[in-house]
Order: sequence, then structure tokens, then C-alpha cells
Amino acid sequence: MATPVRSRPDLPLIYHREYVAPLPSSHRFPMDKFRRLRNLLVKDHVVNEGQFHSPDRPPAELLKLVHSPDYIDAYCSGSLDPKAQRRIGLPWTPELAQRTCRAVAGTVLTAELALERGLACNTAGGTHHAYPDFGSGFCIFNDFAVAARHLLATGRVKQILIVDLDVHQGDGTAFIFRDQPEVFTFSMHCGINFPLRKQPSDLDVSLAEGMEDDEYLHILGEHLPELLERVQPDIVFYNAGVDPHGGDRLGKLALTNTGLFRREMQVLSTCVGAGYPVACVIGGGYGENLDELVHRHSLLHRAASDVFRQYLL
Ligand SMILES: [Zn+2]
Repeated sequence: MATPVRSRPDLPLIYHREYVAPLPSSHRFPMDKFRRLRNLLVKDHVVNEGQFHSPDRPPAELLKLVHSPDYIDAYCSGSLDPKAQRRIGLPWTPELAQRTCRAVAGTVLTAELALERGLACNTAGGTHHAYPDFGSGFCIFNDFAVAARHLLATGRVKQILIVDLDVHQGDGTAFIFRDQPEVFTFSMHCGINFPLRKQPSDLDVSLAEGMEDDEYLHILGEHLPELLERVQPDIVFYNAGVDPHGGDRLGKLALTNTGLFRREMQVLSTCVGAGYPVACVIGGGYGENLDELVHRHSLLHRAASDVFRQYLL
């Protein structure tokens, strides 16, 4: 079947084959989900091959906007001390180090394309537990923080709103921007989930264990429109972690796939409909069944595709 001719290009997506680095097969981090997500989106005709953009290798200067040179050098050369390495929770390999840098560059490219086009989605990203000098919880470098500092440093934006709906609090991001009012951090998460010790965001909404779709979406609706009004961001960074799902191995909320899709439609149509560009990353998600997990992550791109066509095409 011939691809329909479009007068303007469709929703931009960001992917690179280096997003997948080898891990021991017994490791609980589902590394292959990034490649599978890309393939599922193409197979289901949510997007076509021409919509994908590939990030270049990031210059070291980019990471230094947030991270200390000593930490960057130690991580990239594989000489981080074992305790710091254990805190990250992913065994070091040169491929993983490359992957880490490539994924940060992917989120930077997502932010740039979102500014140009109104909406863009990475097929990875959301490393919100990374701090300037150390990583934790599968997060090594903080992609939103790097992208935010990059857009601010190049004068492309003056104000950013981070909407972090991963089930885990965005502690690294909250810490990095604790004294930088140009970046407003909003995290809505399950209170009893990792990290035990939370960092204060500009707005934290802590949810009770077991919360279901309607209550969750109601609470989100009480905050997001008011935040946009108050912060007036030049761009919104959205972490669409799917670990609030009831079937997630780590998250302790009880959303369904329908609830997650409604959440993505709510966030994206509220922001894009009001004229705010949105850069999306997929955040966390830890399922027993990889196909189901990848489908959950794809709900973001399905919703974004709908919203892009409704408001931006
Ligand atoms: Zn998470």
C-alpha cells in the first residue's frame, strides 16, 4: 500500500540503534524494550520509518552542563568505584557507556524538535534519579536536566516545566534544579516507592498505594492546567513512565492501559492544545511480559500521534 502524501511532516520520534546495549540475560532491567518499542510503532502503523530522527554522539561539554567532569570521566572510562557502580544497578560495559551518552543526546534532540514542531517523542529517556556527581536506580546521566540547561544556555527558552509522572519521584531532577527557578519541577508519584528519601520538587504530589485510574486522572487534572497558567513555560518536558501500571513489578499504583492512554491524552492535549510545546520521554516500566510492557510504552506515541494530527498538522 502506498504511503499517503502529506503536505507537512508528521510527529517526530527519536531513536538510535545504540539505545540497546547488551546486559546479562538475568538482569531485571528490560533493555530490549527500546528496540521493540520502535518496531511495534512501525508494525502497527502508528508511525513510519521517515518520522525517526537519530541523535549524534553528544559533545562532552553537553554533559558538563549538569554533571561534574570527574563523574563523567570516571563513568565513561569504567573506573567508577564499585559502590557508586552498585548504586546505579547496571553492570558497566563500554557499550552501556556509549548507550548512556547517546540516550541523553536523544532527549536533547527531542527537546529541540519539540520546540520546532510543537511535540516530539523519544523512544527512551527519563533518567531522573541521576545527580550531578553520582547515578542511582538505573540512571547515570540526567537527560532532562542536560536538555533543560542546553536550551537555557543557548537562549532558546527562558522557562521550562518538567512534568514527571513516573511512579518514582524525580529526586535527581528536583535536586539539580532546587535553586534554578527557570526550571519548575513537578513530580506526581507513589509515596512509598523508591527513592525512600525524596528531594523537594517545586511541586510534589505523593499518591497512596493502589490508586486507580479515575482518582489518579482527577488529581492530575487538578494540577496541570493551573501549573501551565502559573509557570507559563516555553516548553514542557514530560516523563511518561508507565510504572504506575497495576501490573508493574516495581510500581505500587494500579493504573490500567486505558488509564495510561487517558493520562497521555490528558497531558498532551492540555499542553499542546494551549500552545505549549512538549518533549516526551518514556520513563520507567518493569513488566514480567516484555510485549505487554512495550505496548504500555507505545501508548505515549499513539496518543502523541493523535494529538499532533489534531493540533499541529
Ligand atoms: Zn520509575
